[in-house]
Amino acid sequence: MTKSDSHQTKNPPRDRSVASLEALPSDFVESLSGRVASLQPALLAWYAQQGRDLPWRRTRDPYAIWISEIMLQQTQVKTVLPYYDRWLRQFPTVTALAQADQQRVLKAWEGLGYYARARNLHRAAQAIMADHAGEFPSTFDAAIALPGIGRTTAGGILSAAFNQPVAILDGNVKRVLARLIALRTPPSKALDQLWLLSERLLPTDHPRDFNQALMDLGATLCTRHRPACLLCPWQSACAAYNQNVQLEIPMTEARAPLPHKQIGVGVVWNEQGQILIDRRLQEGLLGGLWEFPGGKIEPGETVEDCIRRELQEELAIEVEVGDRLMTINHTYTHFKVTLNVFHCRHTAGEPQPIECDEVRWVEVSELEEFPFPKANSQIIDAIKAL
Ligand code: SF4
Repeated sequence: MTKSDSHQTKNPPRDRSVASLEALPSDFVESLSGRVASLQPALLAWYAQQGRDLPWRRTRDPYAIWISEIMLQQTQVKTVLPYYDRWLRQFPTVTALAQADQQRVLKAWEGLGYYARARNLHRAAQAIMADHAGEFPSTFDAAIALPGIGRTTAGGILSAAFNQPVAILDGNVKRVLARLIALRTPPSKALDQLWLLSERLLPTDHPRDFNQALMDLGATLCTRHRPACLLCPWQSACAAYNQNVQLEIPMTEARAPLPHKQIGVGVVWNEQGQILIDRRLQEGLLGGLWEFPGGKIEPGETVEDCIRRELQEELAIEVEVGDRLMTINHTYTHFKVTLNVFHCRHTAGEPQPIECDEVRWVEVSELEEFPFPKANSQIIDAIKAL
């Protein structure tokens, strides 16, 4: 693994910090300069020995690094690895991605979740073709203007691909920095300060390795539940370790219980033994994916009534609701759903895409060709087993 690089930025990013140093704990500020001078080499030396050998670290191709950064959002490395390899075989360049049909892109993403990431990758590839001659932009302002790229993703790509000194602040880094200064508020209430700290710590001569090292420290040693402080290169400087409060930090905000939605879902059969599926509108968590039609059960409504009503409102068809096929519970980040799945027989009406983008009758054997949300794959398995 190459861990050093002399390729420096031609366009150093402007200082985006809006917080002042007074916002950080005063004892930390007093010794900031001295701490930075020791924290940087300690982390870089640890990374040279212990850094993970990951495929996106063996390349300087901004496209491949961009793909890895997007896949790694909210997703663990071991989950991403097979997707990353497959994706680059299927879409090896920005051009290949930009020219692909959106359904192929969503199918390649199937199972990774947060499908807006795939839709945004596709749109951003088309923007790069239109506005940047097919080359991923090397300036912060142009990178962050692309769909799906926020401040920390831009920092991750620009530092890894171009060795630019642009800071990062993903979930792991927030935890490490919060512990380093024993932050007594939830990180979400101190983002300006944490960004400032990430920028102050970043060395201008090794930004790529430092950012990667910071991510590795959070992922491998400074983990949420079992920080391995005795192995940590920042142990002596870490305020949380010195105060023995590692497990209390980062502080969390009290969260309201997740809302729970009851959904009625119809597996609608026609006389030819085909099944009706529809493609969701582009917006939202699962936009652009295919699904079995249905919707939310209203208060006082039976599942059967809900399915009849939803299919009439959304597809203009009449169905006879039959037996329950299965019940599926699934938890998303912000809500839980229970899918009450019933067999239905189509009795009248040509299906219309009233509240979806497209509707199709398909054979059971064709179902796997379409990108579906994860919860729906259990329905497909159940149908195939009939
Ligand atoms: S000493 Fe412990 S809590 Fe502090 S940064 Fe290292 S692993 Fe995290």
